[in-house]
Amino acid sequence: MTKLAEDSRQDQPRAARIDGKAFADKLRAEVAVDASRFAQEHGRQPGLAVVLVGDDPASQVYVRTKMRQAAEVGIASFPHLLGADASEAELLALIDSLNRDDRVDAILVQLPLPASINEKVVIEAIDPAKDVDGFHPYNVGRLSGGRAALVPCTPLGCLLLLQDRLGDLSGLKAVVVGRSNIVGRPMAQLLLNADCTVTTVHSRSRNLAEECRQADILVVAVGRPGMIGAEHIKPGATVLDVGINRIEAAEGQGQLVGDVDFAAASAVAGALTPVPGGIGPMTVACLLRNTLTAARQRVQQPQG
Ligand code: NAP
Repeated sequence: MTKLAEDSRQDQPRAARIDGKAFADKLRAEVAVDASRFAQEHGRQPGLAVVLVGDDPASQVYVRTKMRQAAEVGIASFPHLLGADASEAELLALIDSLNRDDRVDAILVQLPLPASINEKVVIEAIDPAKDVDGFHPYNVGRLSGGRAALVPCTPLGCLLLLQDRLGDLSGLKAVVVGRSNIVGRPMAQLLLNADCTVTTVHSRSRNLAEECRQADILVVAVGRPGMIGAEHIKPGATVLDVGINRIEAAEGQGQLVGDVDFAAASAVAGALTPVPGGIGPMTVACLLRNTLTAARQRVQQPQG
């Protein structure tokens, strides 16, 4: 490369790297303080029940991480591992017993469930006060009405990172790519509740790049490696990459990448989350935070 070309590359703006891992560490330290205070005040640790059905290796890793991090911050976890052949009735009976168990403040059912089990029925069986993932229609409705709710962990993590970086989000133009119940829809709702002007785009949207280029805040949750490039990004925008995709790298090694082409995007964006080390760690930290929120609300409004 000539000196001139090298200089011009160095002159290119480079986006700030948003360190989700460091922020998640800070969040977990705060949760640990809250959990210890809760235990002193109420004579027990906040409790998180984790239900895993089947033997999907990725789900097993997620569940182990959640339980380890819960233990580290002083949250009691109650694991329930059911075989892949467990019936819907068996799972519903377990959820019913967890709903009535006073030591359990929060119930997490690891998704996806085996095809023989109806996910919607299971989610709706969870007591909304213990719905730590915020997927129950009661919490979905409260969020969309702009009221206090248990909020899905991944979009909550995104919101906290955005507020930390940008402060007040009021009036900013936000575009969310993806409209899943787990990420895209609740993300758009949270941004609307934070007074952003929000557009959601999805697989049927026209002029995706043009829509994305309007965004001061661009949140991408699709599951397609590198689909967002420099042409989708307004100069200086804050870009959060939720996607987690395993691709084949050199020598048959697997590699995790996001939905955003990190190198291309970082020449245009103002700030950008990496994959890994961006939104992923925030999701688990927010699960612990939500467990504390549920525990507090339950002791303030005892059930039954
Ligand atoms: P999902 O349920 O499959 O939803 C994907 C969304 O992307 C859908 O709304 C789909 O549109 C949209 N889409 C697909 N192709 C598109 C295209 N070409 N252009 C525009 N939109 C398109 O996935 P998800 O559960 O939201 O997850 C998305 C990604 O985030 C995945 O990689 C997942 O692994 C990752 N994830 C990460 C975390 C974390 O902690 N970091 C947590 C959850 C998920 P339609 O609705 O029109 O089909």
